[in-house]
Order: sequence, then structure tokens, then C-alpha cells
Amino acid sequence: MLGTIIVVFVFFLPCSLAAGHEVLWKYGNTVHGGHQTVYGPQDWVQVSRHCVEKAQSPVNIDTVHRNSFQKLTFLKGFSFKVGNMWRGLRGRLFNNGHAPTIKIEAGFGLLSGGPWGSDLYRLAQLHFHFGCKSSPKGSEHTLDGIPFSGELHLVFYNLKYADFNAAADKSDGLTVIAAFLEENRLDVSNPELEKIAHLMRNMARGDREENERTLLEPNLYSLVPQLTDLSMTPFFSYKGSLTTPPCYQSVNWIVLGQFIPANTYVMDIMRSLRNHDGHPLCNGFRPPQALNGRVIRGYVG
Ligand SMILES: [Zn+2]
Repeated sequence: MLGTIIVVFVFFLPCSLAAGHEVLWKYGNTVHGGHQTVYGPQDWVQVSRHCVEKAQSPVNIDTVHRNSFQKLTFLKGFSFKVGNMWRGLRGRLFNNGHAPTIKIEAGFGLLSGGPWGSDLYRLAQLHFHFGCKSSPKGSEHTLDGIPFSGELHLVFYNLKYADFNAAADKSDGLTVIAAFLEENRLDVSNPELEKIAHLMRNMARGDREENERTLLEPNLYSLVPQLTDLSMTPFFSYKGSLTTPPCYQSVNWIVLGQFIPANTYVMDIMRSLRNHDGHPLCNGFRPPQALNGRVIRGYVG
């Protein structure tokens, strides 16, 4: 997750890593090139020491074992609001070389009253993780051991900090709402997701200037219908991390219990995306990390 901020975060890395050269990461196995090594998830500690800390993400959400799961009723007063009543959110769709991403550039999407108390969180960007094949494998989180075809992440930062970068490494800095994508062959798809996928068709390879062109006004209530009333929606919550380097343990995770349907048309467009080296963006997910004693709260009814 959060591949889009990797370039910014290079400046936060320890000096020994940041000085002189950029430490590169990828999904899959570590690749040792002629001049440079590109590290896979097993070796991300080489990119950031935080990646081997004890409260990492994603995780498997195990709703069976009582020592790691607490069942609760719906959370009253939890809400998402688009701040300006006359104009929705405006964003820019681009390929950051790790994930198709929509950066919010105008308008407010605000979360309030969640499991973190009275703080307000503002939507900064959203992006997608997905697999390479038409199989239920591509999400970062898993539910009782089962992965989904993909996972949408809506990334918010705590408004008590000056901006996203200031919040990114604070223990209460970020909230991410995760929604699973589930591919089906019945041609049933979320219409807003289909609209966004259609715009992705002309998306250039990662890290190129032409990526900065596609403007859109995402309707998030249509994309994630549960946002309309979070106080009546089942979700899972736990304290974790960014799922990409630098793996800061700054994320309050909200993993929604209901998935977004995606047809093969949508998934095929995402699977066709490439980074600047020509490698596919698919299979862009980190394996589940150990809970290490954390308890996942399930607000399920
Ligand atoms: Zn993500």
C-alpha cells in the first residue's frame, strides 16, 4: 500500500540508506541486478528497519479464534462526509509504478467518530492492489485465510497534523479504509469502479510525466456504498502499518466486511498496467504479517 509516497519517503529514511542512492523495492522475490538490488517483501528491512517491527500490515483477519478477535456491535457516530456540498472531490489518476492511484487535489473527504475517538481524518489518495490472474488472489488482507481478487485502499491523514507527510509516521497519523474487490464472470461490476478502470486504459507506464494528465471527480459513495452510512456497516479494525516501505506503524485500519464486485473487463484493464520497466503492476500485495498479540475488533452487528 502507499506506493505513491515512496519517492517522498526516501527523505525520511535513515541517512545511511537515503544518502547517495535510492533503495528500491518491489513485490515478489528480491532481484540482484548488475549495479543495484531491488528488494522483495522478505527483504524490505534493507529498505526500512520499520518493516520488521511487531505491528505490521496486512494481516489475516481470523474471526474464529477468540484470543485474536473481539466481536462488537456497529459503531454509532462513525461517518464519512464529502465536505463541500456544491462540489465533490476532484482527483488525478496516475500510475506511480507500484499501483494505479487517485490523488485527491480538491475537496474534502472527512472521516469522523471512528475507533480512534474524536480526531478528524482527511482523504489524501486511493489506490488498488490486485493479482495477475483471474483467481481469488490479489488482496493484501485475507479473511479467515481467504484472499480476494483485489483491495482498494482509501488513505486518510489526521487533520491535527500539518499535512500528509507530517502525519505519516505518527502513531495516530493515518487511517486506511480497505475494501476488497471480488471478480465475477457474471459481468456484475460496480459502475464507478468500471468508470475509473475505463480511464486507466490510457494510463502510461509508471514514473512518467504523462501519468499526470487524467483528471476525474470520483463519486466515493458510489464506489464504496458503505461510506454512505459507516455506523451501520460491518468492518474490522486494528492498529498496523503501511504495507509498503517505509512500513511506518501509523495506520488505524478499517477493513470493510462487504466486497466491491468487479467484472473481468475491470480486472483485465488493471492487470494490463505496467511500470516503467515494462513489468506488470499485478500481484502488488504484501503477504500477511504476524499479529504478535494484536486483537482485531469486528464491528459486525
Ligand atoms: Zn495500499
